[in-house]
Amino acid sequence: MFAAQNRAKLYTLFSAFGIALFLLGVSLGFQAGADTPPPSPAQPPAEAAAPQTPPPSAEPVAAARVDAIGQAGIHPQADVVIETAFGSCGHICSRQGEGVVGCTQSDLNERFPDYAIEEFNKDKVVLRQQKPGYCPAHLILTMAEGKTVIMQTDAQTLQSERIIDPAWDISGADAALVKQLEAGIAFDELAQIDEFIENLES
Ligand SMILES: [Zn+2]
Repeated sequence: MFAAQNRAKLYTLFSAFGIALFLLGVSLGFQAGADTPPPSPAQPPAEAAAPQTPPPSAEPVAAARVDAIGQAGIHPQADVVIETAFGSCGHICSRQGEGVVGCTQSDLNERFPDYAIEEFNKDKVVLRQQKPGYCPAHLILTMAEGKTVIMQTDAQTLQSERIIDPAWDISGADAALVKQLEAGIAFDELAQIDEFIENLES
């Protein structure tokens, strides 16, 4: 009898405690809900998309994946594509690989040490290199020795080259813009760069 009474007391205690916890939870939940700010409006876009330096290219992981295909050389009918992926714009430039018929994967790794073998089969072989910067489709307004220059990646060598040295007066640019310029701002056409500079001077 005594034990039963105690048990009943205990149950009452537990359920009271449970209700208290529940109420606490509800009020906390409500509190948290009330504190949550309303969904913020979309972040204003950055003034200009500053080109970002891509992280160093990943190790060629594909090589391991294609090892299973075997060590046969490149088939004479295979379509061999050599790609360069540019980190800043994400574009890929490709050219036909020549003089590689019969090459095995390890031959390719030796001849193209900077390239990962993305695909290697009877019909198709794809080698890909990751490169920082922009592909040849863009004109990059940037700074060299404190002056404005326009750079472009050469379609043959895939190296960034200085194509015009306009040395514009950008004294009107604020520090943030100068920083962007130093990193390089990509344009599609010269006319757009002219417009950009005109706006800067006005
Ligand atoms: Zn590009």
